[in-house]
This record gives sequence, structure tokens and C-alpha cells, in this order.
Amino acid sequence: HSTDGTVYDVMVAGGGPAGSSVAAFAAMQGHRVLLLEKEEFPRYQIGESLLPSTVHGICGLLGVTEELESAGFVRKRGGTFRWGSNTEPWSFDFALSEKFAGPTSYAYQVERAKFDQLLLDNARRKGVEVRERCAVRDVLEDDGRVRGVRYTDPDGAERAVHARFVVDATGNQSRLQRYVGGQRRYSDFFQNIALFGYFEGGRRLPSPNSGNITCVAFPSGWFWYIPLSDTLTSVGAVVRKECADQVRGDRAEALSALIADCPLIADYLSGARRVTSGRYGEVRVRKDWSYLHDTFWQPGMALVGDSVGFIDPLFSSGVHMATYSALLAARSLNTALRGDLGERECFAEYEARYRKEYQAFHDFLVNFYDVNRDEQQYFEVARHVTRDTAAGAGAFVGLVGGGASDEAVLTSESYRDKRKKDLLEQSRGVHQEGHRIQLQAAFGEAVDDTPLSADGLVISQDGMHWEKSVTSSAL
Ligand code: FAD
Repeated sequence: HSTDGTVYDVMVAGGGPAGSSVAAFAAMQGHRVLLLEKEEFPRYQIGESLLPSTVHGICGLLGVTEELESAGFVRKRGGTFRWGSNTEPWSFDFALSEKFAGPTSYAYQVERAKFDQLLLDNARRKGVEVRERCAVRDVLEDDGRVRGVRYTDPDGAERAVHARFVVDATGNQSRLQRYVGGQRRYSDFFQNIALFGYFEGGRRLPSPNSGNITCVAFPSGWFWYIPLSDTLTSVGAVVRKECADQVRGDRAEALSALIADCPLIADYLSGARRVTSGRYGEVRVRKDWSYLHDTFWQPGMALVGDSVGFIDPLFSSGVHMATYSALLAARSLNTALRGDLGERECFAEYEARYRKEYQAFHDFLVNFYDVNRDEQQYFEVARHVTRDTAAGAGAFVGLVGGGASDEAVLTSESYRDKRKKDLLEQSRGVHQEGHRIQLQAAFGEAVDDTPLSADGLVISQDGMHWEKSVTSSAL
């Protein structure tokens, strides 16, 4: 194995949204970062419907807001569902949650080839050394610590590279995740299979909902219907394991048969034709996607994005969880690299926050798959799993927009201001005057994070590190 002797601060395997985000967040702190991606971009990927938390929160932090704005992606104001005991379609807007109200109350439907390329190019501009067509094969371990990786370069040569931290962002098919120990735990509940293709000329909902994702329940499961441009639509059937027979055999025929079984989607596609050439020409199948790895890290290595976990396509949480995990992991890397705190404490913080967000989506989704309830009951479930008391659809939209964590950066400016005031107010009520002054001195006006537990860490003022909580150390 040839190695040039360079030791990177961070080496990221995989250049999807999770990999390019974690790499950029580390490079933006001045660390030396290498990213190795197996494919040559642009490459196809599924996961086209995004959330406001990603578009305004993470993408804002990454500095790609304007670029995204001018990329021509379809604006997604919310979702439209034919779901539950209500026989009529119902819609929600992201604006219904105060967490996204105002100028951040929309997301995008994206062609992932373009979106992922934009994020990877941004990582390069932020100083990440990106090498495509480099497949990472395994990790270099020494003395109980991961110290780099072995990979195959574009000429087929075996190479090794050393780094203080390795991040696995190689997604659903990751072969590296096993090196952190533990294992992927597959869900007993979510065992769905997806069959999906692309159509030209499908119907659009009337304005202002024309950019919404539409989800329609039907006997074997449900359909997604995602407008990717004025004329191109991503259409996928998500079917239960017991109906796996319906996705066997010729895929195009199977998809047509499923569409015929779902009157609303059949109607939307009545004047459309399936794309049969190019990137969107294939009918694809995906399964085995609902899992969570039971270990997030080992000394010198962490998992992010689909490598660590994914739940289900319903409510489009994938890219949100992938990029949010990238932000959480980047804070851990940045803090450990600076030597402020040990990696154990830093990665434990990442894991705790990720698990909380994952659990909220997971528990909500389990209840949402019970189609015998109506919207009001689903909204009640969202209040329960998030402990958010917002009335009406508020808690539900706060969750499915990606705001359950209450992370200031993922939510709207007005919500952030309100929350800051609430937190200061709380500190006034609960703590001694001296402690309040200490809090304010430490955070100034930036009191916008509370630790998850008594010994939990809080977000630093620059948003890119963890630090000890004044609350826990002062009490
Ligand atoms: P990926 O996007 O998979 O990126 C991983 C990268 O690693 C790839 O570029 C790959 O080429 C590279 N790689 C792999 N192996 C190696 C290696 N050995 N060395 C180097 N590089 C490697 N999410 C949403 O947000 N909205 C949706 O509407 C949505 N719909 C979905 C529908 C279905 C049917 C499924 C299965 C998922 C859906 N998702 C959706 C989830 C979404 O696809 C993923 O959560 C998201 O792509 C995860 O991003 P990532 O960066 O972790 O992984």
C-alpha cells in the first residue's frame, strides 16, 4: 500500500449529503479534510423530498443558500395526504409551525444528482480535498484505534491514508460501519419495499400546493408523488413485506399494476408517460432500509447518515437525519480535534442528540402507519412524542419539518428569538441571580441551547463545537 505520509485531521468516506456536510463543517474550522467517494458525480440517488431544517438550517450553515435558490428546484410548501380515516385529501403547510413560520417555511424537491453535486462542490470550495472514483475498502486499526483507511484509487491501485478521525458516510450499503463494533439493528415494524420510477407529464395540484409531496395510502401500502420540475415526477410505491409478490417479475409492469390499484395516483398519471431512458429510465427497487446501528463510534471513527440509521421514506426524514447527524458529528470532531474535550464525551453527545431525533420520527411514524385514525389524532400523537404543546397541526409540522430537536439553527429566526427569551426567563425563575448573570455572561444573547441531561454538553456560541454547560457546572 502506498501512502504519502500525510496525516489528515479527518478522512470522510462517502460524498452524499452526510459526507459532504460533515467534511465541510470540519474544513470550515480549519481542519485538514480528505473525502473519498466511490462514484464519479453526478450520480443517481433516491431521497428527493427535503425538509425546511435542511434547506434553511444545514444548507444555510454550509453557505449554499443562494446557490440552492438559483438551482431551479421545485419549492415544497408542505405535504398533501390521502391517508387515514379521512377519505378526502388533506394538506399541511410548513408555515403552520412557528418553528418554520416566515421566510423559512418551505423546502425543495430536488434531483439528488444535482443537489448532492452542489454540496460536494461546496465541500471542495470550503477546503476539503475531494477524490472521486476512490472506493474505501477497510480501516487501518492500531492499538484499539482507527487511524486511517485503505482504498482503491481510480487506476485500481491499492492505497492507504492516515487520519486522526475517520468518518463513515458511505450510506445504506456501508461495509465500513461494522468497524465501530456492535451491529445494525433492523426494525421489526418497518419492513417495507419500494418500487419507483419517473414520469413526464403528470398532473400538478393547484397552486399554491403544486410543489407539495403527495402521499396516498392504498391497499398494499402507499405512494409518493414528488414533482421534480414542471413536468418530471418521481413516483414510488412503498409496499408492505406481505405484498412483496407484487414487486416481483418485470419491474415496469409491477409498477403499472400497483398504480392501477391506486385510483388517485392513476388519475394524476393518466396523461403521463414513464421515462424510459437516461438517469430516470429505470424502475428501481429498494428494501432493508429501516435500521439503527447500536454503536455510533469507536476511538478514531464515527458513523453518520444512512450508515448509522434510516427509518422510512414517509415524511422524508432521510436527508434531514443524514445532514443533522453530520452537524452533530462535526461538532464532536471539531471539539476533540481542538483538544477541548475527549472524544468519548463528544461522540456521546452526538449519539444522544441523534437518538432523540430518530426516536421522535420513529415513534410518530409507527402511529402514522395506523391508517384508522384521522389528522387530529395524528397531530395529537406528534404532541405526545415531541412533548411539544403547539395547538392544531403545530407540533406535527414542527416534527415533520425537522424541528423536533429545537436546535436554534434548524428553526426560523422568530422562533429562535422567542425561545431565547423563554430560556432566559426560565433561568430567572429557577436559579439564583448570580447564576443568571453567569449564564448571560457566558452566552450573551445567545442562550439558545439546553443540555439533554445533567451532564450533557451544550452547543458553543460559534455553533460548531460542544462545551460544558454552565448550568451543570454552576449548580
Ligand atoms: P448516500 O446519499 O447514500 O451517500 C453515500 C455515498 O457514499 C454515495 O455517494 C456512495 O457512492 C458513496 N460510497 C458508498 N460506498 C463507498 C465506499 N466504499 N467508498 C467511498 N464512497 C462510497 N430521504 C429524504 O430526505 N427524502 C425522501 O423523499 C427520501 N425518500 C427515500 C425513498 C426510499 C425508497 C429510500 C430507500 C430512501 C429515501 N430517503 C429519502 C433517504 C435518503 O435516500 C437517504 O437518507 C440519504 O441519501 C442518506 O444520505 P447519506 O449521505 O447518508 O448517504
